[in-house]
Amino acid sequence: MTTIVQKYGGTSIGTIDNIKSVAKRIIKRKKQGNNVVVVVSAMGKSTDNLINMAKEVTKEPCKRELDMLVSTGEQVTISLLSMTLKEMGYDSISLTGFQAGIVTNDIHTKAKISDIDIKKVNNYLNDGKIVVVAGFQGINNKGDITTLGRGGSDTTAVALAAKLNSSCEIYTDVDGVYSVDPRQYPNSKKLDYICYEEMLEMASLGANIMESRAVEIGQKYCVPIYVALSTSEKKGTYIKEFDNTMEEKVITGLTVSDDDLMVTINNIPYDNKNISLIFQKLAENSVNIDMISQTAPTNGYINVSFTAPEDSINLIKRLTESFKEKFKDINTEIQKDITKISVVGLGMRDVPGVAAKIFKIFSENNIEFKLVTTSEIRISYAINTEGKCSAVKLISEEFNL
Ligand code: ADP
Ligand code: ASP
Ligand code: MG
Repeated sequence: MTTIVQKYGGTSIGTIDNIKSVAKRIIKRKKQGNNVVVVVSAMGKSTDNLINMAKEVTKEPCKRELDMLVSTGEQVTISLLSMTLKEMGYDSISLTGFQAGIVTNDIHTKAKISDIDIKKVNNYLNDGKIVVVAGFQGINNKGDITTLGRGGSDTTAVALAAKLNSSCEIYTDVDGVYSVDPRQYPNSKKLDYICYEEMLEMASLGANIMESRAVEIGQKYCVPIYVALSTSEKKGTYIKEFDNTMEEKVITGLTVSDDDLMVTINNIPYDNKNISLIFQKLAENSVNIDMISQTAPTNGYINVSFTAPEDSINLIKRLTESFKEKFKDINTEIQKDITKISVVGLGMRDVPGVAAKIFKIFSENNIEFKLVTTSEIRISYAINTEGKCSAVKLISEEFNL
C-alpha cells in the first residue's frame, strides 16, 4: 500500500466548512487505496492571534511559554479534522508533534527536528487509520513543547514523508509555485516543475509558499514534493531534483522580502580589527547579518552598511550604542523602508550579464539600490521600498517571469 503525506495550510482549513471539504479530499485518497498521513496548520490566522495575545501580556514573551501557547493552534485543527473524518465514517486519530514522535533541539520558536520515532504513526497506519498530525511542533529532550518557526507545518510534512519514504503533497491557497509571488506580480507564470536548489533559494529569500527548511529536508532525502490548491484538482507544481526533462532557465524566479532593515555605521576608524570587533559583537548576540558593504577609507574613517532582520532592531540599537564607548566618532543610521529583491536561476551559472541588465533597469527608471550580493545562482539587491513595484514589474517583464 502506498503511503502519502498531505499538508493543509491555515487558509485551507480556516473554517469548519473548509475542514469538511478537506476531509472529503482526504477520504478520496484513502478510498484509492493509500495510507494517508495528514499534517495541518492552525486555523486561519489563529497563530497570529495567539502571538498578539502574548504581546498584550509582555513585550518580550519567554520563548518556552510562547511555544506552549502557539502550539495549541494546531491542536484545535487536528482534533476537529479527526472528528470530522470519523463522522464521515473513516477511522482516524489525531496526534500532537510529541505523540507523532517528533523530537527537536531546544531552540524555542525556531527548533530543528533532530529525529522522528515513526513507530506509532506506522502502527496506526497499519490499523487502517488516517493519521492526523499537528504541524509546526515537536518536543525537546527536556520534554518541553517546541515550535519550528513560522510556516513550520511544511517542515513537519516533508520530514514525516522523508521518514515514511513517501511523497509529500502541500495544499495551500495558490495553485502552485509561480515565478513571482502572484500577490506581488499578478502576471507571473505558474511553474510545472522547479528543482530543489532553486526552490530552496527562493524560499530562503522570501517566497513563503514553502518553508525553506522543508525544502532542505526534501532535497536531502529526495522527497518528491507537489504544491497545489486545496480547493480544486487543478495541476500544481512538482519540486524535485533537476533532470534533463526540465528547462534550465537563466532566471526561474524572483522574490521580494520586506522583512529586513539596513544599518549604516559611519565614521569607524579604518582598521580591520575594528570591523572584526563590530561584526563579532553582532554575531555573539545572534544578529543574522545578510548583505554587507564597506566604503573606501576617507581621512582614516570608513562607513559600513549591512542588512538584518527587522525584528532585531532593538538589539541592534543597543549594540550600536555600546560601540560608541570604543569608537567615539561613530553615528548609526537605520533604514526600515528597504526591500530585498532577488533573482534565482540555475542557468545564471553559465550566462553572464544578468546583473548588468538589472543595473540598466534601475538606472533607466531611477530606482535607487543600496546593496548587492551574488551567489552562483542568485543576485540580491536591497532597494528603497518606494521602487519595489516598478522593480518587480520591470525585472519580471525583462526575464519573462
Ligand atoms: P499556507 O497557510 O497554506 O502555508 P502560505 O501563506 O504560507 O500558505 O503560502 C501561500 C502564499 O505564498 C500564497 O498565498 C502566495 O501569496 C505566497 N507566495 C510567495 N511566493 C510565491 C510563489 N513564488 N508562488 C506562489 N505563491 C507564493
Ligand atoms: N501555524 C504556524 C504559522 O502560522 C505554522 C504553519 O502554518 O505552517 O506559522
Ligand atoms: Mg505556509
